Amino acid sequence: MARVAIIGGGVAGVSSALILSQLDIDIKLFEAKDSLVGGPPFCHLHAGGNLYPDITDKERVQLLKESVEFARYYPFCVDKRPTIIAYPKRFKKDVQDFLPTLKMLQLEYKKLIEADSTNTILGDWKDYYKLYSKAKLEELAKKEPKDKPQNVDEWLIPFAKYTNLDTLQFPVIVVQEYGLNMFKLSAGAELSLNSIDNIDLNLNTEVTDIKKEGSKYTVSYFKDNKIESQEFDFLINAAGFKSGYIDDMLGLHKDRMVEFKAAYITNWECNIKFPEIIFHGERGSSEGMAQFTPYPSNYFQLHGMSKDITLYKNGLAKATPNSAQPKLEDSFIDKIEYGWSQSELELRTKQAVAHMGFFIPKFAQEAKKAFKPLYGAQQIPGCNISLRGAEVEFVKNYARCEIVKVSSATTMAKEIAKELKKLKLTNKDFTQNLKHLKNLKESELKSLSEAIAKARGYPKELADVVNPMKL
Ligand SMILES: Cc1cc2nc3c(=O)[nH]c(=O)nc-3n(C[C@H](O)[C@H](O)[C@H](O)COP(=O)(O)OP(=O)(O)OC[C@H]3O[C@@H](n4cnc5c(N)ncnc54)[C@H](O)[C@@H]3O)c2cc1C
Repeated sequence: MARVAIIGGGVAGVSSALILSQLDIDIKLFEAKDSLVGGPPFCHLHAGGNLYPDITDKERVQLLKESVEFARYYPFCVDKRPTIIAYPKRFKKDVQDFLPTLKMLQLEYKKLIEADSTNTILGDWKDYYKLYSKAKLEELAKKEPKDKPQNVDEWLIPFAKYTNLDTLQFPVIVVQEYGLNMFKLSAGAELSLNSIDNIDLNLNTEVTDIKKEGSKYTVSYFKDNKIESQEFDFLINAAGFKSGYIDDMLGLHKDRMVEFKAAYITNWECNIKFPEIIFHGERGSSEGMAQFTPYPSNYFQLHGMSKDITLYKNGLAKATPNSAQPKLEDSFIDKIEYGWSQSELELRTKQAVAHMGFFIPKFAQEAKKAFKPLYGAQQIPGCNISLRGAEVEFVKNYARCEIVKVSSATTMAKEIAKELKKLKLTNKDFTQNLKHLKNLKESELKSLSEAIAKARGYPKELADVVNPMKL
């Protein structure tokens, strides 16, 4: 049987392992950390890319298709709640110009359902998006928020009640882009991978060197305080923002960037179930996009796409002619390896809360810093900082995973499965049905995902999905 090495147990590595385990191959997954899916965070299934005003329609359609597929594999980590997209008056783009894009995405979603009715994961295609006038929102603002919102109008009540509507353009858009929970995915992946016979999962194991001889790769790795080596027929580089180090070990060059970003966890004792809310803005300016992401038990995560909140001056590094690995400044690597200083954490969280306060004033008056941020560095292939749709590149028996959004991971893994067949390293085909994921037990998922959240220094509630998707 062909032997396949996967370097990295983020969403790209675990999706590769799960999908490729259906083939007649032996898989060894190396992950340097003590748990899976512990790289940069994610909270949003970009089913249409509506958070990004600057990407192409082609990328939007790709994100839509891939999100539908991703949610079909991993329904247990999808939080089924809509996303509000609001264009502020101060934003230079006009919301009216975006409406044809929504129509286009709605029709693309319809096509997906017509091709396969099990793709109906975002609800009926006619309900993919809905538009709200100021008058309609003012009417909703008079109602009481619901504990269990049953329709889009009910989800909109808290937004209508607490947002300063005078800051916005109209219509306000609601799209069926759902939330994602990384702790649930981490737990589900670990439980599944441990139960599959042809996967050898190695946590706390760092790949330190790779030699290529003929068509074989000899991978050296550090585990249990010693270096060991093993030979493989195919190599998958899923090392996230450290992918360039693997390219360097192989003497391969690749243009890529890495970007450090952070989102802040706050506590607002409002006891209200909010949807996700996006207030658009110009990336990198002091009025950059503000993203309000609800978790259970009054925790709210904030992104602010300005340089003193989520983004950083010098937070973007590029590969050089001498190395495929972009080098972030030490201060970012220190945060990733050792954590944050209390003063920086307090300052940035305060700035994030104030940034959101422009739109939701009561939040700014009452919200408090809760825990350390969710943060990390992510890879972006090539030189286009707005790129969101990217998957995988092949160089002979080597796959370089290049996802920017997590929803690309399952499509990417299927491309690798096709490549293995093309190279005659397997005779089998993958199927959509991953029985190990389907057999996960809710109680085991809950206890392991909460344990992972706590071990990483977050409250166990962040591992909870408010409205889990059932398929
Ligand atoms: C603040 C922030 C918010 C984000 N929000 C979203 C979102 O809402 N939705 C979304 O889709 N995306 C989001 N992203 C992007 C998303 O987090 C990444 O695209 C995704 O996690 C990348 O997954 P990956 O598997 O490619 O890499 P990673 O998750 O980085 O996994 C790579 C793994 O490889 C391991 N590794 C590296 N080198 C070695 C080695 N030599 N040996 C062994 N193991 C090694 C690492 O330890 C790591 O676990 C966000 C990113 C950031 C920074």
